[in-house]
Amino acid sequence: MIVEMKKGATPEDVDVVVQRAKSLGMSVQLNLGTDKTVVAILGSSTGQLPIDIFALLPGVDNVARIMKPYKLASREFKPEDSLVSINGIEVGGKRFVVMAGPCAVESEEQLMKAVAAVKESGACVVRGGAFKPRTSPFSFQGLEKAGLELLALARERFGIPVITEVVDPHDVTQISKYADILQVGARNMQNFALLTEIGKSKRPVVLKRGLSSTITEWLTAADYLLAEGNNQVILCERGIRTFEDSIRFSLDISSIPVIKKVSHLPIIVDPSHAAGHYSLVPAMAKAAVAAGADGLLIEVHPNPKEALVDGLQSLTPSDFARLMEELRPIAKSVGRYI
Ligand code: PEP
Ligand code: MN
Repeated sequence: MIVEMKKGATPEDVDVVVQRAKSLGMSVQLNLGTDKTVVAILGSSTGQLPIDIFALLPGVDNVARIMKPYKLASREFKPEDSLVSINGIEVGGKRFVVMAGPCAVESEEQLMKAVAAVKESGACVVRGGAFKPRTSPFSFQGLEKAGLELLALARERFGIPVITEVVDPHDVTQISKYADILQVGARNMQNFALLTEIGKSKRPVVLKRGLSSTITEWLTAADYLLAEGNNQVILCERGIRTFEDSIRFSLDISSIPVIKKVSHLPIIVDPSHAAGHYSLVPAMAKAAVAAGADGLLIEVHPNPKEALVDGLQSLTPSDFARLMEELRPIAKSVGRYI
């Protein structure tokens, strides 16, 4: 249930609503918007509560039920766009944020070459997996702690924030020491124990869309992060499973305007994992910018032929440099800059 307070409602008025909800065994989340405060009243039995319980309280403007499965990620709860701040870099604002780097951290030389190249071309966050959730247990699983240490070294040397994937809820605290953004991979979108732990950490998080998840399921998963008080949530469209097999996954460009309509959360796009092939990445990246995405997550490897993971879909540094130049005018045409 959503309780919209009047413009001039006092903090005491808001507190009366909050206490009333709590006395009924509900939990609450506040959106202290610039214009007015919105109170989300959450609990499995809010559907049975009569609206008048809150509608008649002082300072209350309107009470509505949110009929969608997701509540906190919805625009009803928070009409204004959310901005996620990573060391001063805002995702969801005018700046189009490009995150780039290798699929996996493989060695110091490989990572430093990749970071130098992507930074030079204008990427403002570096990606690199230390824990790799591979489809096969026999594939390279990542350098784990040694990979995290290399990421921390790159962050220090190049002064660039780092994003890396977390696959186990027990690793959240440790990885948070090394990374600025935690990534939840597509295969873990509905790993609720992981989401809850990352929610508690309050760290900026990129939540990838599950391979076969609807937008509603994705936003409901985001509610697990938001419910723990972590409002630093960025969504990432990375393609979904369809009948089409000429690409790795079908990049659902339509999810960008849909998310913008139904949610306040920023959305970035990973064209690399959808494309599966480097030659397709630039067109898909350009489409994402034009469709209103807030950023990109792209795989770049200094020598894709020797990559241990995802070499086929990785751009070379020079391909990436060219792509960045091609993206700039498109970003400008939709009121953004890179
Ligand atoms: C990745 O970003 O390296 C990755 C494994 O992506 P996804 O979870 O989207 O498959
Ligand atoms: Mn990859």
